Amino acid sequence: MTEICFVTSNNNKIKEVQSLIKNQKLISLKDLNFNREIKETENTIKKNAFIKANFIFNKYGVNCFSDDSGLQVDVLDNQPGVRSARYAGENASSNDNVDLLLENLKDIKDRRAKFITFICLIINSDVKFFEGMIRGNITHSRRGDNGFGYDPIFVPDGYKKTFAEMPFEYKNSISHRAIATKKLIKYLNSLN
Ligand code: IMP
Repeated sequence: MTEICFVTSNNNKIKEVQSLIKNQKLISLKDLNFNREIKETENTIKKNAFIKANFIFNKYGVNCFSDDSGLQVDVLDNQPGVRSARYAGENASSNDNVDLLLENLKDIKDRRAKFITFICLIINSDVKFFEGMIRGNITHSRRGDNGFGYDPIFVPDGYKKTFAEMPFEYKNSISHRAIATKKLIKYLNSLN
């Protein structure tokens, strides 16, 4: 069985994806003894996904994939986008980011937004991208305690609940990340 590195230190993410992949053994950054941070210096989510996978591929010569996600609000020209994790400043908490977004959307009726994920896979020097997107609306205040980040203020199309009001497993099965991951898994499972 070939090995493929998921460019993450999050064991839960590894476990979840490994259970769906039949023909590859997933390893993590911990297995490579890599515990530094790879700086996300690009101006798009897609390019940041590439940066992380490319860094590890160049350093270790191992097939690998990485993911990067963010929230894009239509009326804010797709902000916070690539800056989702640090919208309210370099060391901002999720709470700060949500506060700032609600403030910036105060009195604005058009609350259309989308979460997107790009997964970048580098396999035998070939670079492939898998995209996941989910559209929805930003609420006027927080609702729900599950999840993380902007979950309490995002209602996906076709639902009345925010991501944070949904059971964690349910959100994880319909999210932008799930959509991109399913595409990646389908591709990996199609290899020999
Ligand atoms: P990451 O690339 O998955 O680390 O996501 C970057 C940032 O985007 C996170 O720190 C969150 O602020 C936001 N984000 C990404 N995915 C989600 C999600 O599923 N729910 C809420 N916020 C998210």
